[in-house]
Amino acid sequence: MSDRSKFVIDPPAVCAVPIKGVTQKFPVRRIYCVGRNYAAHAKEMGKDPEREPPFFFQKPADALIDDGGVVPYPPQTTNLHHEIEWVVAIGRGGRNIQVTDANAHVFGYSVGIDLTRRDLQNAAKDLGRPWEWGKSFDHSAPCAALVTAAEIGHPQAGRIWLSVNGVIRQQGDIADLIWSVPEVIAEISASMRLEPGDLIYTGTPAGVGAVQPGDVLEGGVEGVANIHISIGPPQ
Ligand code: MN
Repeated sequence: MSDRSKFVIDPPAVCAVPIKGVTQKFPVRRIYCVGRNYAAHAKEMGKDPEREPPFFFQKPADALIDDGGVVPYPPQTTNLHHEIEWVVAIGRGGRNIQVTDANAHVFGYSVGIDLTRRDLQNAAKDLGRPWEWGKSFDHSAPCAALVTAAEIGHPQAGRIWLSVNGVIRQQGDIADLIWSVPEVIAEISASMRLEPGDLIYTGTPAGVGAVQPGDVLEGGVEGVANIHISIGPPQ
């Protein structure tokens, strides 16, 4: 709906993800992502997986792609990587949220894929530049429908996995997060106020790798959600 009385151009649409079993959607404000949060993945990226403080980056909310979607192969890369991730949806905001209170701020959970232009990310790392161009491009944040914490509670463990064309590439367990979800919520909210609508992609287990146009990606977090997307030709 146009609102030219207030804005000189049409305001952007509200970005949102579906919720399993609910007609209404979950409106998305920001997408926070946690870097290197499983020891085996930190090792494969050439890092010592000791418990250094967590670090974060963001993707724009309009990078979301629903379950079943097609991701056009993005420009300026020849090394597009999948990173399957457990996703947390914040329903109640706050700053300086305590670890012991953190679960009360969670609306629900899902599974997403932190698509990464690995060649651009590695070049940025080498030059000491931001990861933005490697991480925060159009269509870089597929996310399945949320399930509410009211329905499934707050998972402590469960297999996380991703296959490409039916072949398993990534496997782990969300019990193996270096920084737990309550700890991640506490860390982010100590630095920036979390708000309702924020999503957190919690990091990926080992086995990241490249995908090509035509590939079919399936993944999931046991007891939470599954996701299925495909990679399309470049736009
Ligand atoms: Mn990631």
